[in-house]
Amino acid sequence: MNRAENPKSDPGNLFPGRILRWYASRKRDLPWRRTKDPYRVWISEIMLQQTTVGVVIPRYHEWLAAYPDLDSLAKAPLRKVLKSWEGLGYYQRARNLHRAAGLIVRDCGGRFPRDTEGLAGLPGFGSYTASAVASICFSRPVPVVEANVRRVMMRMLGIQGRGGPAVDARIRRFLEGAISRRSPGNFNQAMMEWGALVCRPKNPFCLRCPGRALCRAYARGEQEVIPAPKTLRAERLQAVVAVLRNGGRVLIQKRPEKGLLAGLWEFPGGKVEPGETLRTALARELKEELGLGLASVRPFATVRHAYTRYLVTLHAFEAKPAGGLNAVRPGNRPVRWVAVKSLDRYPFPSGSLQIVRLLQSE
Ligand code: SF4
Repeated sequence: MNRAENPKSDPGNLFPGRILRWYASRKRDLPWRRTKDPYRVWISEIMLQQTTVGVVIPRYHEWLAAYPDLDSLAKAPLRKVLKSWEGLGYYQRARNLHRAAGLIVRDCGGRFPRDTEGLAGLPGFGSYTASAVASICFSRPVPVVEANVRRVMMRMLGIQGRGGPAVDARIRRFLEGAISRRSPGNFNQAMMEWGALVCRPKNPFCLRCPGRALCRAYARGEQEVIPAPKTLRAERLQAVVAVLRNGGRVLIQKRPEKGLLAGLWEFPGGKVEPGETLRTALARELKEELGLGLASVRPFATVRHAYTRYLVTLHAFEAKPAGGLNAVRPGNRPVRWVAVKSLDRYPFPSGSLQIVRLLQSE
């Protein structure tokens, strides 16, 4: 460890005292910071993994109204839990919340394990979530290393590149020496708040930063190039779906139980392959999925959404099948005719959900 990486040689006593003082005076008053209840902290940490604080606050309250404790979450039907997760990103996280709640209730007498090893054995508890819950709720001195902390520490320590397991290990070693033994939960939250409010990905507020005097990136003018910018580009996709109507009902089908967006519901359709028009793609998908020929189509809506690394333009058509609705021959996937007003009972990915909202606003 060189001098700049040794917290004990830090003349400003940045870690942990100064960071804790900065946090005490600048932290946002967020609902999950008023509790040490591991259930509530856990829910907030999982929601925050992919969604902004502003979006999470009302969703956190809604969630607690629907599932006030572990027991209520464990007993809820999975479909309801997935529905409650709509708009919060990867549905696997909701599945894992449900599974972990069931395991804690069944195998641990309804009490969370108190250390990172026990927590990390639960579904969906990676090292980050386990460290956050163990430090905030059970005062375990284990540092969290997530995107905000990684960015702050790469800049403070002047670590070039995009990061990776070796960089995370180096940051963790440093923070294990720096973390407050008295307030490890506050220390971890202070590190994350520092990254979220001051050491932001773009245009960091270096002049207001509690660590500026010791920041290597700032001293070298490298704060905008550490971490190195991403080069991965999102892939654009065109997709088509059919709105098949039967009186006031529409046909939806369930996605497979494994893989991307597993177990969610959607309108029949799929990706437009190279060389296909929107109409020929829709005709192929309806034939493959429902055994239907296409008699006529009428544009209904075009919506855009993003998932994983894809930017999807989703074209929805009102479709009339050749041979009428009785010709529907579903394959392995469950299909249902559902009244438009009852579509809210089913969990949809965000693109299909936009189509649902348009149908319900007619
Ligand atoms: S001085 Fe700037 S780059 Fe360094 S930690 Fe503070 S905000 Fe980040």
